[in-house]
Amino acid sequence: MSHYIPENLPSKIQHFIDGQFVDSIGGETFDVLDPVSNESYVQAAAGQKADIELAVAAAQRAFKTGPWPRMLPRQRSRVLHKIADLIEARDQRLAELETFDTGLPITQALGQANRAAENFRFFADLIVAQRDDTYKVPGRQVNYVNRKPIGVAGLITPWNTPFMLESWKLAPALATGNTVVLKPAEFTPLSASLWAEIFREAGVPDGVFNLVNGLGEEAGDALVKHPDVPLISFTGESRTGQIIFGNAAPFLKGLSMELGGKSPAVVFADADIEAALDATVFGVFSLNGERCTAGSRILVERPIYDDFVARYAERAKNIVVGDPHDPKTEVGALVHPEHYDKVMSYVEIGKTEARLVAGGGRPEGLETGNYVSPTVFADVAPDARIFQEEIFGPVVAITPFDTDEEALELANNTRYGLAAYIWTNNLKRAHNFSQSVEAGMVWLNSNNVRDLRTPFGGVKASGLGHEGGYRSIDFYTDQQAVHITLNEAHSPRFGTAK
Ligand code: NAD
Repeated sequence: MSHYIPENLPSKIQHFIDGQFVDSIGGETFDVLDPVSNESYVQAAAGQKADIELAVAAAQRAFKTGPWPRMLPRQRSRVLHKIADLIEARDQRLAELETFDTGLPITQALGQANRAAENFRFFADLIVAQRDDTYKVPGRQVNYVNRKPIGVAGLITPWNTPFMLESWKLAPALATGNTVVLKPAEFTPLSASLWAEIFREAGVPDGVFNLVNGLGEEAGDALVKHPDVPLISFTGESRTGQIIFGNAAPFLKGLSMELGGKSPAVVFADADIEAALDATVFGVFSLNGERCTAGSRILVERPIYDDFVARYAERAKNIVVGDPHDPKTEVGALVHPEHYDKVMSYVEIGKTEARLVAGGGRPEGLETGNYVSPTVFADVAPDARIFQEEIFGPVVAITPFDTDEEALELANNTRYGLAAYIWTNNLKRAHNFSQSVEAGMVWLNSNNVRDLRTPFGGVKASGLGHEGGYRSIDFYTDQQAVHITLNEAHSPRFGTAK
């Protein structure tokens, strides 16, 4: 198979600290592979504790003495809109690099690039519309909220949609006047370097945005344990979230955690089945199945179960798997051979646990690269590992149910609680089910279409805290209550008894 390589790839990937591209102080590097050839195409600087210390010191200087936290919201908003313009102007290049580095289909990478721009525009608008509370206690007090940026925010991100997920944290952190150190995922560091150029061109002062590449256990760990980083916003696996939670505990840091998922899509017999098929196929196979909110467990009401499974399997078999750069491709190559092995091991486990109705291995004609056929298992028991564990690839488990109660029990029967998708035309059932399902986000008769104002986050093992809209503003700011006495303060007079 021909192997597309974008032009003008960087000869190395560096950190960006205090307005300069730099190598690691000790010169450490790691290999970055592309998921089609699985060959190393570039070396990236591997940040160590000392590199994190430099980046945090720069961010702290920019926070304490630089203009960024002190600018009027309108001024910062203008810069943020400029960033969005620059992202939009470079969307093709961004998508090309992202596809090369992650294996995501090019059409989907392009969508993610535009979503990244939208994140900046959204927070640019939100901070100029931001208002805070004032409370009057007649004749006695006025109280108001003095909202302040917190300081240096540590941002740690995964590899599944790297640039977009970075934007999700960068936009609100910067909009609110913080300075940041970003540690992107080591599988996919390529697109993150573009931030440095975009921010510089948009007028973000040096030291406000710092980027340290490297491994989670080295650079990520040092960022989490740095005493001058009061906030950590993390997106990644639940297991990593637990480690970070523990490591941040001695410092009592502010934490936002967007973690894993095993979200149910529940299809009742009265649903629009064609629409449910479209959405549930897209819901697990888009972004190569490497999607936190994937509807990777489909629960189907018994009367339509056999028909649904047959039609679903047919669709899955027809999905176009191939070169991520080809616009016709619907599922590309998984990000990395380690992840490929993990997904393939679940495919093998699934064969021992359930009935395979589509896929089940490497697609024909794609002998190299991290390609997995869209794989569908039916009759999956709730205690099966493929029902319980996050696979994070193009693999879906389908299970029948007979009653609403059973459907709810099955839907809630995992440690995760990120999203749920409900398909029914019964109004009461739709609302009752949605309100009872243990999920941070519910979509009724829809795939994952999210307005940026709504809260994003999971319950149970899927996360801690919510981001999205003003909730992100709350996470990245302190809300200091200032109490003003308008009259005499009647303090009890201690120490006057004698
Ligand atoms: P991961 O947890 O392996 O890595 C995420 C980031 O954490 C990487 O940058 C990594 O280097 C860093 N890291 C690893 N160990 C660390 C440590 N000890 N200290 C500090 N940082 C450390 O996750 P991944 O494999 O990159 O991403 C896939 C996971 O992300 C899936 O579980 C998926 O569901 C989840 N995810 C969740 C959301 C959401 O919004 N809930 C969105 C996208 C992905």
